[in-house]
Order: sequence, then C-alpha cells, then structure tokens
Amino acid sequence: MPLYEYYCEPCHGVFEELRPMREAGEAVPCPECYEDADRIMPTSFAAFTFRDGYPRKIPDDGTYWHLGQKVSKRVTGGRPNEHPEINKPTPKKRLTQGERSALNDMREVAAKGDLVDMFNNPISPREVKQAYERRDVIKKGVPARIHKDLKRKFR
Ligand SMILES: [Zn+2]
Repeated sequence: MPLYEYYCEPCHGVFEELRPMREAGEAVPCPECYEDADRIMPTSFAAFTFRDGYPRKIPDDGTYWHLGQKVSKRVTGGRPNEHPEINKPTPKKRLTQGERSALNDMREVAAKGDLVDMFNNPISPREVKQAYERRDVIKKGVPARIHKDLKRKFR
C-alpha cells in the first residue's frame, strides 16, 4: 500500500497514512483529534498559510516541513524557498593525493592477490576503491600462505 500525506486543519498538522490507492482521496481521521483530514500533495504545503508559516508533523517530533521535506529548523533568513538543510550543496568527495596514491599501492598489491579483507578473502584491484570507501578492513596478506599455516595447525 502506498503512503499518502494528509493535513489536519485544527491541528495544523501533517501526517502519513498507508492506504490502498483507490481510497487515497478519501478523508482520514487525524491521529490526534480524529477530525477528518484531507489528502495533500507533498508540494502543496507551500500553498497553505500555517501557524509559524510551517505545518507541524503528526506525531509531533519537533520538526517542520519545508516544501514537502522534513527539516529540523525553520528558515530564519536568506531566500524563503531555500532551506539550508535541503538546499545545501553536497560537496563532492575528492580523494587527497595521499589517498589516491595509497589506493594505487593497494591496487598493485591486490593485482598480485596479496590484499585480503577481514575474512582473508582476496580483494580484486577493481574492488579496492569500494572497500576503501566502505572502510572495510583491508589487510596485506598472502591468503595462500595463511591457509597453509592454518592447515598445519590443525593437522
Ligand atoms: Zn487533528
């Protein structure tokens, strides 16, 4: 069932409700005051005039809605349609020179099959960057030799 959003006028509140698609347009009782609340489109918040200029979320967790997205603070300055929690640019992560050369070193080791993860599974050169970004445990080791040692131990 899809999740729809409803607005309760007496409560100045927005809440979500799982409903079958064919019932989405019907009013839903508000979880706080049980008055009928009408369905709203996520982008229609801006068209309402709310207390504080923002609707609140039901159940109230102290957040506000900004153009259909949940934010923890109201806009206090700047352009009214831009919220720092939503519009802030996501800085593209760039590797430092040191990280890049470390990755290249690891790829070289991986190419020889000498780079292993925490379970001693070999990491292929293609997987090095991913493993590095996931902060997987990467060890330099010789899986074949580790294997031999283990065998010897349990013989
Ligand atoms: Zn209500």
